[in-house]
Amino acid sequence: MLQTLRQVASRVLPPSLVVRRGPVGAKRVALTFDDGPLPLTDAYLRCLDDLGVAATFFLMGDLVEVDPGIVREYVRRGHQVAPHGYHHTMFSSMSSRELAGELRRCGEIFGTQAQARPWVRPPHGALNTRSLAVALASGWSIAMWSFDSYDYKLNSADDLVERCSPTAITDGEIVLMHEGQQWTLDALPRIVEGLRGAGLECVTMADLLAR
Ligand SMILES: [Zn+2]
Repeated sequence: MLQTLRQVASRVLPPSLVVRRGPVGAKRVALTFDDGPLPLTDAYLRCLDDLGVAATFFLMGDLVEVDPGIVREYVRRGHQVAPHGYHHTMFSSMSSRELAGELRRCGEIFGTQAQARPWVRPPHGALNTRSLAVALASGWSIAMWSFDSYDYKLNSADDLVERCSPTAITDGEIVLMHEGQQWTLDALPRIVEGLRGAGLECVTMADLLAR
């Protein structure tokens, strides 16, 4: 009976439109990487392969457009990809018409038109009421994060490992990180080992949210 109710509820209730974290209890967290693809992408992918970790990558539309095959490479290795805007322009700084056009372009580049409420992560997480309304009305849902690694400020692998300790990152957390940074890449094995040591499995956002 409970199972039936849950199945019905999952069909009737709308999906969460602004995702900030995953559920507590499954002992899982999601590592997310913004701003790629970049020259270090291949090294990131090899590092995650070695660690046996699947992650979520929020990619730039303009960079994917010049290298469309790269999306297949992320996906082939078990990762999830979603757009992070086209030019990394803050959604809140665009007119409604510009933003709607940019989101449409992202949908075409990432082939998300047939998906129900695909995720987009706004550059800098910058949203105001108007841009949020435009994104939702354009059929997207918003993928934010619950834990900022500050890897754009902490340009040392040791500092990043300390910041991303398993006492700081807890069950269900969505962790914001960035591509293209040697210190982030260098820190990844120790961060993943630390999380695993605390019993936390690293999965994609889609898996964390069972979506
Ligand atoms: Zn970004």
